[in-house]
Amino acid sequence: MAKANMRPDKVEMPAQDPKVRARNFDEVTYGYTEEMAVEEASRCLQCKHRPCVEGCPVNVQIPEFIHLITEGDFEGAYQKILETNVLPAVCGRVCPQETQCESRCVRGIKHEPVGIGRLERFVADYHRAHSNPVAAKVESNGHKVAVIGSGPSGLSCAGDLSKLGYEVVIFESLQTGGGVLSYGIPEFRLPKSIVKEEIKQLELDGVKLETNMVVGRILSIDELLHDYGFEAVYVASGAGLPKFLGIAGENGVGVYSANEYLTRTNLMKAYDDNYDTPIRKSKNVAVIGGGNVAMDAARTALRLGAENVYIVYRRSFAEMPARQEEVHHAQEEGIQFLNLNNPVEINLDEHGEVVGMTLIRMELGEPDSSGRRRPEPIPGSQHDIEVDTVIVSLGTDPNPLIKATTPGLDVTNWGGIIVNDEGKTSRDAVYAGGDAVTGAATVISAMGAGKVAAASIDRYIMSKEAEAEAEAN
Ligand code: FAD
Ligand code: SF4
Ligand code: SF4
Repeated sequence: MAKANMRPDKVEMPAQDPKVRARNFDEVTYGYTEEMAVEEASRCLQCKHRPCVEGCPVNVQIPEFIHLITEGDFEGAYQKILETNVLPAVCGRVCPQETQCESRCVRGIKHEPVGIGRLERFVADYHRAHSNPVAAKVESNGHKVAVIGSGPSGLSCAGDLSKLGYEVVIFESLQTGGGVLSYGIPEFRLPKSIVKEEIKQLELDGVKLETNMVVGRILSIDELLHDYGFEAVYVASGAGLPKFLGIAGENGVGVYSANEYLTRTNLMKAYDDNYDTPIRKSKNVAVIGGGNVAMDAARTALRLGAENVYIVYRRSFAEMPARQEEVHHAQEEGIQFLNLNNPVEINLDEHGEVVGMTLIRMELGEPDSSGRRRPEPIPGSQHDIEVDTVIVSLGTDPNPLIKATTPGLDVTNWGGIIVNDEGKTSRDAVYAGGDAVTGAATVISAMGAGKVAAASIDRYIMSKEAEAEAEAN
């Protein structure tokens, strides 16, 4: 092995100027060139014990794919990633690598870890630019599985089952596949053309995607199992039900949930004048919350033309759940952070339109059950800000429709589907994973759950087949 390049920091990834990008929807970062990728890959020490792989929920063979990059075999590197990850261009962009693969990288002990995500993105982009999609050749095993939801969890489960020869049909309630990848994460972080192409590859490999199919309304899980010949169902319906604060004024004109605001912009292209999607384009926008979704909503509002965009968060930067990189990008673009502030009321005019918000200042007390210091209001510190749009981004829960239409399906008190270690629910032949089980989490954890369930579904169907054969003999 050639001697590793011991430069302490990652090779920087070129990005659009913050002032320019704050007014357009083009991708913020440009990705590595071939030379940059080889240089970054040469920082990898090819550790024998491979700690980075343990940090990846889908076990991407990290040292192996990075080694292929150092040899200039970019297509080989792509194929190596594809063995365990069906969405590399997506994961290379949106995985929180700093808490996953890169958090385990030994180069990160003293300096910056190897830029595993950036390298994964590079090889996936290289593959797209240099090859035409080719269908995988897999012989059918004659068995059928239904997947509910086409987000990363459903796609990952479908991809793995299709590689094993299953006929897989994904039922998706929206008009487009991809789940949050299509309707939630904005174009400037994850171009939709990439999501479309990764889904197209799965379709080419034989996965069928039925859109505008709301399971629980048009069809039930029991009908899929008993009337349509599916032998198992994987529920990957996500967590799309927004939570609200319950304060006065929340029903006003100009108050959105982050989900609605982002769906209108991403999926229904409200920013593009060629589309007929109404969205409020305001001067002063407040986003309530401190997670990644709040950052996405705030940066979207800026790109829709707002002059002032505020993040209203009741704790401080140190407790903020959003990725540091996203907070940093938001600050660079001019988002204003009103940390240690909590909304008391949304102020409406006589027509019920938002004209402002009353906030109360907070201070941090003792740690609560989450381990973070509890925010407490400072008496008498109410103050008003002038805003004409408020976006509420306080998290989401699973939609109750699947539970309501599937007798015997056990869920938690907040609606998460209960599964065992194999992803199996309380109902026979019904498996579940992703945000529908965990509540809002990450793309890669949802994909990991899809892989676990695919393996379990395969074991279940194969054991039934073996039993049937034994009975016949
Ligand atoms: P989803 O992606 O929610 O997909 C569920 C799908 O099921 C949807 O398409 C839905 O329409 C469909 N569905 C629901 N009910 C039915 C039904 N009854 N019948 C048929 N179809 C149904 N994670 C990261 O790792 N990195 C990030 O940078 C990041 N940014 C995010 C930004 C935003 C704005 C949001 C909202 C989330 C973000 N996340 C991020 C979280 C991540 O996107 C989710 O954890 C992940 O998408 C969950 O995948 P899933 O497949 O379980 O569900
Ligand atoms: Fe890291 Fe995500 Fe790639 Fe796994 S899939 S190696 S966690 S970037
Ligand atoms: Fe390379 Fe870091 Fe993984 Fe070691 S831990 S093999 S240096 S990426």
